Amino acid sequence: MTIELDEVKRREKGLKIINEKIKNDNVNSLVDLTGLAGGFDLTSDDMSLLETYAGPAVYDEKIQDLGLKHMGGEKVLPVNRTTSGIVATIIALVEPDTKIVHFLAKKPAHPSIPRTAKLVGAEYEEYTDMDDLKHIDDNTSLVIITGTTMDLEVIDEEDFKKVINEAHKYNIPVFVDDASGARIRCAIYNQPTAIDLGADLSVTSTDKLMEGPRGGLMAGSKDLIDQIKLVVNQYGLEAQTPLVVAMIKGLEKYTPERIQKAFTQKDKLYEMLENQGLNPQKTPTGFMFKEDEIVNELKKRGANIEYDTDIIATIYSMLLLKNYNIITIPSVGMPGASKTVRIDWSAKDSDKLTMEELIDAIDETFNMTKEVLDENKIEETLY
Ligand SMILES: *Cc1c(COP(=O)(O)O)cnc(C)c1O
Repeated sequence: MTIELDEVKRREKGLKIINEKIKNDNVNSLVDLTGLAGGFDLTSDDMSLLETYAGPAVYDEKIQDLGLKHMGGEKVLPVNRTTSGIVATIIALVEPDTKIVHFLAKKPAHPSIPRTAKLVGAEYEEYTDMDDLKHIDDNTSLVIITGTTMDLEVIDEEDFKKVINEAHKYNIPVFVDDASGARIRCAIYNQPTAIDLGADLSVTSTDKLMEGPRGGLMAGSKDLIDQIKLVVNQYGLEAQTPLVVAMIKGLEKYTPERIQKAFTQKDKLYEMLENQGLNPQKTPTGFMFKEDEIVNELKKRGANIEYDTDIIATIYSMLLLKNYNIITIPSVGMPGASKTVRIDWSAKDSDKLTMEELIDAIDETFNMTKEVLDENKIEETLY
């Protein structure tokens, strides 16, 4: 079995636990702290419009207005996922044997980027240091910037501009993977939108730090968006109208205040974790334990570690879900997704528990993970 197939099975297990909890209790018993809202707030008026041919016409105008306000640019394009936007952009703009150069605050990048580079037969290079701007050259067909990584590492605004300037010296388009960056960068760090910073194209995830559905929203110049739209339609990557309506609702509801509040409260959470002897890392709106730190903590508690760190992190996440109803990404994420256990305190569901309850769950789950390892119950925990 390939590693990724293995991950598909683990995700199925995570979803099964969730389904059982919903059946035995109800959906409100779950505490989703992923920061991925999945909001789908349709009214019956929306539903009746969706049943006619008028739906797409009405909603396209609305998503253009709201999308442009959120992202800047001349035209927006709703797609099925952020990944769909990344795939379509690379297929549309990158020729075989040319080079994609990608800058980000910290590795890893989203796996869809190198994967699609390979698909189109392009070279792919990834850098975190501005000394590496020299790798942008005449054979480069696309420059990518990740605004905020999957682990919420934010690129510095000056670096952002430097990359854009260098790319534009060679007339190379700049595409920004701003999945959560469109909110984290703008709401917390007061950075302009990617397009306002001079990028040619950007994509954001409509479920990250806003109450929208899982989907992708692209923005840019009319000309580039039209080129990408063609590929999107050819490969079936577009957002269907019900998804577009839910994106509109998410954009209408979005305000930066929740994110800003979590940004200040996370220091308190961090202090409480430290007082328990734990060693998390801060994120802009919460905290996280990377795979290695989960393993370190377990070793400190005397656990016997014979498995890879990604497996251990997934066990931890699965136990947090099973015992405390708290959803984090490793137990339900797509194959290849980061195995960092990240808690987003700006998530709507954070209202369902106190800081003390959260810290207790985080701490106790380390003990439970140790027990699973000691008693060799890995298989039944993950599959
Ligand atoms: C979440 C994320 C993506 C992909 O979003 P999907 O909804 O899984 O397609 C891409 N890039 C970054 C930086 C992300 O955080």
